[in-house]
Amino acid sequence: MRKYIIAGNWKMNKNLNEAIQLVSDLKTELDGKVLNAEVVVAPTFIALEVVKSLVKNTSIKLGAQNMHSIDSGALTGEISADMLKSVGCEYVILGHSERRTIFGESDEFINQKVKQALKNNLIPILCCGESLEERENGSTFKVVESQIRACLNGLSNEEIKNTVVAYEPIWAIGTGKTATPEQAQEVHAFIRGLLTNLTNAETASEITIQYGGSVNAKNAKELLSKPDIDGALVGGACLKADSFRDIILSV
Ligand code: PEP
Repeated sequence: MRKYIIAGNWKMNKNLNEAIQLVSDLKTELDGKVLNAEVVVAPTFIALEVVKSLVKNTSIKLGAQNMHSIDSGALTGEISADMLKSVGCEYVILGHSERRTIFGESDEFINQKVKQALKNNLIPILCCGESLEERENGSTFKVVESQIRACLNGLSNEEIKNTVVAYEPIWAIGTGKTATPEQAQEVHAFIRGLLTNLTNAETASEITIQYGGSVNAKNAKELLSKPDIDGALVGGACLKADSFRDIILSV
């Protein structure tokens, strides 16, 4: 059975002290609770090590927000999979729409990163999703299919099985405009079908497909009740421990 995964993407928020505070608050909020989902926090690079030490002996896992595709070298400002592994990361978010649109990352580059993550035993959370214009002109499925095909190109079935897919319609990220549970389920079912074509039904049924885009404590339960929505990638609402807790406990 695939697992539910609720991941919090802190983006470029929280200095070191604030990061310590947030993860400590989250630990307190989750203490003694029965969790039906894997919980992942993805702070900024500067906070990874301290957050890892604070989540030790809890069920909270560590993720990073990005990484480069090569092992090491003259790449000022970049970070490698091995470095993330060495501070205890288990997950890495790749292909987030902000990386694609603001930093110009292509599907080909993201594909290299996904391969590099898997080679280093990091679980990639591969983001995909259409813009508002693409949704309105009816090309959602085409866009999502081409992103997923290109980003998973050359991967074995086993590698695809070890990848998490996050469907994040760009028009819903940070806008307060969530896809309806029906809109999200429709795309998730389409993604599951595509993953079935790329692998097989058994493998595709094991892959966690998260929804992301203005998920909050109020809308999480209904979104997560849909058959192909296996978790959430949360931005704004993960920056407060109590709202992130409510999302986690909606599973
Ligand atoms: C995100 O950035 O992945 C995201 C889903 O953000 P928000 O929850 O703020 O829309």
